[in-house]
Amino acid sequence: MGGATAPLTGLPHTNPAKSYWQRNPHRIADLRSTDSLPKSSKYIIIGSGITGGSIAYKLLVHEPAASIVLLEARQAASGATGRNGGHCRPGDYDKFSAHVERFSLEDALRMEKLEADNVKLLTKFIKEHGIECDLNEVEIVEMFTDEKPFKYVLGVLEARKKVAEMRKEAPVLREYRIWSAEETKKELLIPSGVGAVSLVGGYQLQPYLVACGILELAIEKGLNLQTNTPVTKILKLSEDNEGNGWKVHTDRGDVFAEKVILARNAYSGALYPDLAEFISNQRNDKCASSDQDQRLSILGSSQGPVSGKPQILLIIINKDTRALWEKAIYLRASSIEDSSIVPEITEYFAHKLPKRFYGRENWREDGEIIQEWSGIMGYTFDRRPIIGEAPGQNGLWVCVGFNGHGMALTFQSAEALVQILDGKEKEVDKWLSSCYKIQRLLESGL
Ligand SMILES: Cc1cc2nc3c(=O)[nH]c(=O)nc-3n(C[C@H](O)[C@H](O)[C@H](O)COP(=O)(O)OP(=O)(O)OC[C@H]3O[C@@H](n4cnc5c(N)ncnc54)[C@H](O)[C@@H]3O)c2cc1C
Repeated sequence: MGGATAPLTGLPHTNPAKSYWQRNPHRIADLRSTDSLPKSSKYIIIGSGITGGSIAYKLLVHEPAASIVLLEARQAASGATGRNGGHCRPGDYDKFSAHVERFSLEDALRMEKLEADNVKLLTKFIKEHGIECDLNEVEIVEMFTDEKPFKYVLGVLEARKKVAEMRKEAPVLREYRIWSAEETKKELLIPSGVGAVSLVGGYQLQPYLVACGILELAIEKGLNLQTNTPVTKILKLSEDNEGNGWKVHTDRGDVFAEKVILARNAYSGALYPDLAEFISNQRNDKCASSDQDQRLSILGSSQGPVSGKPQILLIIINKDTRALWEKAIYLRASSIEDSSIVPEITEYFAHKLPKRFYGRENWREDGEIIQEWSGIMGYTFDRRPIIGEAPGQNGLWVCVGFNGHGMALTFQSAEALVQILDGKEKEVDKWLSSCYKIQRLLESGL
């Protein structure tokens, strides 16, 4: 990376659209723990999403006396975390066979366990600390309107069953329910449904409140949070003859640190250019609306203009209501602009999609459009997070790349990073698959 100078590009947009969750700004939204930036700190974390907040909290549990400054370009948790769908569930169950083939059975099992543990431990933490975020245990159903992908998923479930029989101790997801076409039509209210799979152990929550809650707990432990402070450049000091460590530039002055931790997800390549070829930005447009009776709702999600055929629909069943979430990937849109709204996407999610899937008999009249917004996700070249100390960059740490699925990955990824920082890499290797570690990028030319 040479002197680790970053171009002044890749900063989060200054005027983002407000997500549904951000309608009431949190009390720490614009917090600066101190009026001016500290001159130095042991750790600097860049990014105040669920990753940065979790790292700060966990570091302070391990090392209560450590000085930590967290620099956030915009308001607290205003990146992907503050604007995501709020689905927190162990996912990727349908990729199990592909993971076994591509990596190994052990890796596939570790990946599966990490997500299950992440959801369990994050929701336990939320409950234990009384973070108010409308945490709801829900049944999350993946619904299919096409026979081919449904059959594929049934095949994956069979493969999982065989592994579960063979390896009784293995953490293979065992609890799921398969819905017949008839049940999908009658009970899930999707007339064109050919079948569905529901998984237990999923939650719906307000991600913005979760991230701000974790940040507040870290602040109580001594974190210095500095919002609205974009980092424009990081510089490795040994090459500057100023001693060891890092100089972090912001418009409000420089801060020196022993260790810098990048928790800036989609934007990571800008401050650490060597990472740029391994992570890219993808914009995700969202719209929430309901029918007039507020019995059914839609949380539509589209990566690009609406023009293609939806692939999978998720239905989230709460006690009294159900929400349809379209997981349609139409076009991979690379962008870091999350300030605008695309009217065609809103029109599709609020008016066309409900009639198409619920049918007029179920979705009687359109209700209000509750909110429309967009957000930026970080996708990695191999769809796995990148965790660890940057090779050859003593003191630069990375925890990024959650591929649109961070609510099930970030809490435990933060744990892994903090434990590795604490010298417990061997312990971590027992539960963190090597295909999540930054060292794998060396084989690809990092
Ligand atoms: C629209 C949308 C829907 C999604 N739905 C779901 C879902 O339902 N379930 C799920 O599991 N995941 C979902 N995701 C993905 C999930 O939100 C992310 O994986 C997760 O939030 C990543 O958290 P993070 O803390 O790593 O990144 P972020 O929350 O993006 O945080 C990174 C922070 O870094 C800050 N930053 C960047 N550059 C700088 C800089 N130079 N200086 C200072 N600060 C900087 C940003 O402003 C940002 O606040 C969705 C994402 C989007 C966008």
